[in-house]
Amino acid sequence: DLTDPVLASEAELAFEGALRPKSLEEFVGQTRVRGQLQLLLTAAMLQQRTPDHILLAGPPGLGKTTLAMIVAHEGGRPLRMSSGPAIQHAGDLAAILSSLVPGEVLFIDEIHRMARSAEEMLYLAMEDFRIDIMVGKGAGATSVPLDLAPFTLVGATTRAGLLPNPLRDRFGFTAHLEFYDEAELEQVLARAASLLGLDADREALSEIAGRCRGTPRIANRLLRRVRDYALVHPASGSGRRGGRADLTAVRAALELYDVDALGLDRLDRAVMQIVLTRFGGGPVGLNTLAVSVGEEAETIEAVVEPFLVRIGLITRTPRGRVATPAAWRHFGLADRAPGAA
Ligand code: ADP
Repeated sequence: DLTDPVLASEAELAFEGALRPKSLEEFVGQTRVRGQLQLLLTAAMLQQRTPDHILLAGPPGLGKTTLAMIVAHEGGRPLRMSSGPAIQHAGDLAAILSSLVPGEVLFIDEIHRMARSAEEMLYLAMEDFRIDIMVGKGAGATSVPLDLAPFTLVGATTRAGLLPNPLRDRFGFTAHLEFYDEAELEQVLARAASLLGLDADREALSEIAGRCRGTPRIANRLLRRVRDYALVHPASGSGRRGGRADLTAVRAALELYDVDALGLDRLDRAVMQIVLTRFGGGPVGLNTLAVSVGEEAETIEAVVEPFLVRIGLITRTPRGRVATPAAWRHFGLADRAPGAA
């Protein structure tokens, strides 16, 4: 995961699973989306039908997988998980769809990366719970219709704009997940700390909340590094079994892991450095930027840029990305900013 300042290990993935909220009630923030989902699920329950297909859009780590699990859990429905890159042929999708049980929730992560041929099969499946399977080759090929069990598709994508219109239009509801504010991240962290048995004070949690890129997944990972630090460097006084973390421990741990005051990760910083130093603050076109940092334009646009725009380090103009005065200051280059004396 490129957006992450700390590499994921098996143990961390297990930890992530353990921290996932199991109900909409426990899910922190995203108030609007939560309300919309609640209505959709309740209406379906009242009419005893499968809920409409749901598209979840937003940068990684904001809770898309968690929400898909909640949709299944709240309706007492089984969940099948797959992803766009795993569906490279229509046949891959046919195998999944034809084995769904009635009412099952099918989660397809990174749905914009599914093969074109599978996408077309999905249109019919979503609309009529039916697919056409091609049997044989050449002149003798025939298509055999196959009825499917009714299901709810939950698709996740880093940007809804990457999906072809016919696919986007077949979702009954699209939720746009936003970065979390600091108060919400503190709630996520407080919950995780208590599950970890880590005694962290308010100041410590708020420091992490300000440095996790508005992203719960990163908040939880940083908390784990702080926990490690607290275990190795026990602070004065007793603590809970998982140790005790204060502001000093948080600052020391985050410094060790190279997380700066704004929580920018390596890729964010690389992008900013290019805009500031190689292009004098911009404007720089998206593709030029992507080539310069050796990353896909899609990743820059869907993952890096939304956060940099949100914290006011770059603005998007018709001619490209431009660094703001705050960006020059944050990187200690204010004297080189255009117009600086
Ligand atoms: P995505 O699928 O969007 O990449 P996930 O659903 O996998 O993100 O979430 C990443 C981690 O962040 C999970 O471990 C989950 O526990 C945590 N998380 C995400 N959103 C929330 C939330 N709203 N409240 C509490 N924890 C959350």
